[in-house]
Formats: sequence, structure tokens, C-alpha cells
Amino acid sequence: MNITVDKKRCPQNHACPAVRVCPADAIKQNGYGLPEIDQDKCIKCKKCIMFCPMGAIQAT
Ligand code: SF4
Repeated sequence: MNITVDKKRCPQNHACPAVRVCPADAIKQNGYGLPEIDQDKCIKCKKCIMFCPMGAIQAT
């Protein structure tokens, strides 16, 4: 399982609030761009999935 960000759902116009809920510091965002998940750091806790109000973060 990988945690991914759906670029069609993420509006990419704000600081991603999921960055600060990640306990593993696995989410990086460059400006207001599409957040990137570091799969090596990610512990698959799914907190970001529950937190994103756009439903843009998904387990695939
Ligand atoms: S699943 Fe958990 S560890 Fe992985 S990116 Fe989301 S919040 Fe971070």
C-alpha cells in the first residue's frame, strides 16, 4: 500500500494541513504545490487520509 495525493482533488492553493498531522514527517510541500509523500518515511497510519477535507490523500 502506498499513500498518494490525487492531483485532481487537491486544489494546490493553500498550505496543506495534513503536513503537520503526519507523525512521521513524511509529507513535504513545496509552496502551495501538490504535497509529496515520502514512502520510506510513511508508516501508513492514514491520519493524513482522515484529515484532508478534500479527500485528496488516498491509500492505493
Ligand atoms: S499515512 Fe501517516 S505516516 Fe503516512 S504520510 Fe499519512 S500521516 Fe504520514
